[in-house]
Amino acid sequence: MTQHLNMSIDDLRQTLVRNKASCLSCGRSVTIFSVRHYTVAPEDSGNNHVMFANWTRPSWVYNECDGCGYQTALWKMVKGITARQEKMAIHR
Ligand SMILES: [Zn+2]
Repeated sequence: MTQHLNMSIDDLRQTLVRNKASCLSCGRSVTIFSVRHYTVAPEDSGNNHVMFANWTRPSWVYNECDGCGYQTALWKMVKGITARQEKMAIHR
């Protein structure tokens, strides 16, 4: 199922920056400019596609690193943020 987000793509970009999402390859922080997306036909969408508020086509969101050019999928960035937050909670 495509995940429906109650936010715009700009909101998502800012959320990723605020939560210090980073490139999976070199660790460089993402910026609002390095987070890209493209839309797909509804029948081509899968688990890791997202639907922004008021959009009719699902999107694939990824970061294209300013440093190394590696493309990190959104779900991997979210996983990285979640793992870091859990680690911080354990060390608190
Ligand atoms: Zn990188």
